[in-house]
Amino acid sequence: MSMHIMYTHQCSSCEAYYLPYKKGVNCPKCGLEAEEVYEVISELAKSANYQFGMNGYYTPLAWWNGSYADHIALYLFQLFDAYFEENDKSFEEFAVDYINQSDWDDQEYAKSHILNIACEVFKLLKRG
Ligand SMILES: [Zn+2]
Repeated sequence: MSMHIMYTHQCSSCEAYYLPYKKGVNCPKCGLEAEEVYEVISELAKSANYQFGMNGYYTPLAWWNGSYADHIALYLFQLFDAYFEENDKSFEEFAVDYINQSDWDDQEYAKSHILNIACEVFKLLKRG
C-alpha cells in the first residue's frame, strides 16, 4: 500500500508540468505566474514518511503514477534512499549531483524546481 498524491498542474501558456507549491513558485519553463497554489510539500513528506515507516526505505516496490505529483514523489523517494545510503555530503549537495545525473530529456527546466521541492520535503522527513 502507498499514499498517492492526485495533483497535476500544467502551465496554461507553455504546458510545462510543475508543482506551484507556494506563492511565488511560477512556471519553471516560461516564468508565467501560477494561477493557483497547491501545498504539495507536506503531502509529499507525509507519503515519504509513510513509506519509510512501513518498509524502512522510501522507494515503494510498486508505484503507479496517477499524477505529475506522483511522478515527482517516486523520483524523490529514490533520491532520499540514495542519499541515506551514503551521506557524506549535505543533502543539497547530494541532490544537486543526483539531479544533474538524471536524464531530463526535454525537461531540463525542471531541474532547479525539483531541487527546491526535494530540499523542502527533506526538511519534513521523520526517521526513526
Ligand atoms: Zn510555462
